Amino acid sequence: MTLCGKGHDNWSTWTSTDGTVHKYCKICRRERARKYSERKKNAKGSHTEKEFLEKLRQYERCPSCNRKWEDIPNSKGNARYKITEDHIIPLLKGGTNDIDNIQPLCYQCNFQKGYSVK
Ligand SMILES: [Zn+2]
Ligand SMILES: [Zn+2]
Repeated sequence: MTLCGKGHDNWSTWTSTDGTVHKYCKICRRERARKYSERKKNAKGSHTEKEFLEKLRQYERCPSCNRKWEDIPNSKGNARYKITEDHIIPLLKGGTNDIDNIQPLCYQCNFQKGYSVK
Protein backbone atom coordinates (compact mmCIF):
# COMPACT_ATOMS: atom_id res chain seq x y z
CA MET A 1 0.00 0.00 0.00
CA THR A 2 1.35 3.39 -0.99
CA LEU A 3 0.36 6.58 0.76
CA CYS A 4 0.32 10.00 -0.79
CA GLY A 5 2.71 12.72 0.38
CA LYS A 6 0.27 13.66 3.13
CA GLY A 7 -0.26 10.11 4.31
CA HIS A 8 -3.66 9.48 2.74
CA ASP A 9 -4.69 6.23 1.14
CA ASN A 10 -7.53 7.36 -1.09
CA TRP A 11 -6.35 7.03 -4.66
CA SER A 12 -8.25 7.58 -7.82
CA THR A 13 -7.04 7.59 -11.41
CA TRP A 14 -7.60 9.49 -14.58
CA THR A 15 -6.51 8.60 -18.10
CA SER A 16 -4.90 11.20 -20.33
CA THR A 17 -5.49 11.38 -24.06
CA ASP A 18 -2.41 9.27 -24.81
CA GLY A 19 -3.76 6.47 -22.68
CA THR A 20 -1.46 6.95 -19.71
CA VAL A 21 -3.14 6.27 -16.40
CA HIS A 22 -2.36 8.81 -13.69
CA LYS A 23 -2.97 8.34 -10.02
CA TYR A 24 -4.05 11.15 -7.73
CA CYS A 25 -5.02 11.46 -4.10
CA LYS A 26 -8.72 12.27 -3.82
CA ILE A 27 -8.39 13.86 -0.38
CA CYS A 28 -5.52 16.14 -1.44
CA ARG A 29 -7.32 17.13 -4.59
CA ARG A 30 -10.47 18.06 -2.71
CA GLU A 31 -8.34 20.01 -0.25
CA ARG A 32 -6.64 21.95 -3.05
CA ALA A 33 -9.97 22.76 -4.68
CA ARG A 34 -11.36 23.95 -1.38
CA LYS A 35 -8.42 26.24 -0.71
CA TYR A 36 -8.58 27.65 -4.18
CA SER A 37 -12.27 28.51 -4.01
CA GLU A 38 -11.84 29.89 -0.51
CA ARG A 39 -9.11 32.21 -1.69
CA LYS A 40 -11.34 33.41 -4.49
CA LYS A 41 -14.29 33.85 -2.19
CA ASN A 42 -12.27 35.74 0.42
CA ALA A 43 -10.85 38.18 -2.09
CA LYS A 44 -12.44 41.57 -1.74
CA GLY A 45 -14.13 43.46 -4.49
CA SER A 46 -15.54 42.37 -7.79
CA HIS A 47 -15.88 43.50 -11.35
CA THR A 48 -18.02 42.57 -14.27
CA GLU A 49 -17.04 41.32 -17.67
CA LYS A 50 -18.27 44.63 -19.08
CA GLU A 51 -15.90 46.58 -16.85
CA PHE A 52 -13.04 44.43 -17.99
CA LEU A 53 -13.89 44.98 -21.64
CA GLU A 54 -14.02 48.72 -21.02
CA LYS A 55 -10.61 48.54 -19.42
CA LEU A 56 -9.32 46.49 -22.29
CA ARG A 57 -10.22 49.29 -24.68
CA GLN A 58 -7.59 51.47 -22.99
CA TYR A 59 -4.90 48.96 -23.86
CA GLU A 60 -3.67 48.58 -27.38
CA ARG A 61 -1.08 46.02 -26.45
CA CYS A 62 -0.04 43.70 -23.68
CA PRO A 63 1.48 45.90 -20.93
CA SER A 64 4.05 43.24 -20.14
CA CYS A 65 5.54 42.15 -23.47
CA ASN A 66 4.37 45.21 -25.43
CA ARG A 67 3.07 43.15 -28.31
CA LYS A 68 -0.12 44.27 -29.93
CA TRP A 69 -3.01 41.95 -29.23
CA GLU A 70 -3.23 40.96 -32.89
CA ASP A 71 0.48 40.05 -32.95
CA ILE A 72 0.12 37.53 -30.17
CA PRO A 73 -0.32 33.99 -31.45
CA ASN A 74 -3.53 32.28 -30.50
CA SER A 75 -3.45 29.79 -27.70
CA LYS A 76 -4.22 26.39 -29.17
CA GLY A 77 -6.07 28.14 -31.94
CA ASN A 78 -8.53 29.63 -29.51
CA ALA A 79 -8.59 33.44 -29.55
CA ARG A 80 -10.75 33.47 -26.45
CA TYR A 81 -7.72 32.71 -24.31
CA LYS A 82 -5.40 35.23 -25.89
CA ILE A 83 -6.19 38.05 -23.49
CA THR A 84 -6.44 37.14 -19.85
CA GLU A 85 -7.38 39.03 -16.73
CA ASP A 86 -4.42 39.68 -14.51
CA HIS A 87 -4.45 40.87 -10.91
CA ILE A 88 -1.93 43.71 -10.64
CA ILE A 89 -1.53 42.94 -6.94
CA PRO A 90 -1.96 39.16 -6.63
CA LEU A 91 -4.89 37.93 -4.53
CA LEU A 92 -2.38 36.06 -2.43
CA LYS A 93 -0.75 39.35 -1.50
CA GLY A 94 -4.00 40.99 -0.53
CA GLY A 95 -5.02 42.28 -3.93
CA THR A 96 -8.71 42.64 -4.68
CA ASN A 97 -11.00 41.71 -7.53
CA ASP A 98 -11.86 45.33 -8.13
CA ILE A 99 -11.41 46.54 -11.66
CA ASP A 100 -8.67 48.92 -10.43
CA ASN A 101 -6.55 45.90 -9.65
CA ILE A 102 -7.23 44.17 -12.97
CA GLN A 103 -5.29 44.59 -16.18
CA PRO A 104 -5.42 42.70 -19.42
CA LEU A 105 -2.38 40.55 -20.05
CA CYS A 106 -1.66 38.18 -22.90
CA TYR A 107 -1.93 34.55 -21.86
CA GLN A 108 1.78 34.01 -22.48
CA CYS A 109 2.79 36.68 -19.97
CA ASN A 110 0.15 35.60 -17.51
CA PHE A 111 1.31 32.00 -17.75
CA GLN A 112 4.94 32.95 -17.23
CA LYS A 113 4.02 35.13 -14.31
CA GLY A 114 2.44 32.19 -12.56
CA TYR A 115 5.71 30.35 -12.67
CA SER A 116 8.18 33.08 -11.89
CA VAL A 117 9.09 33.41 -8.24
CA LYS A 118 9.60 36.97 -7.10
ZN1 LIG B 1 -3.36 12.95 -0.03
ZN1 LIG C 1 2.28 39.71 -23.09
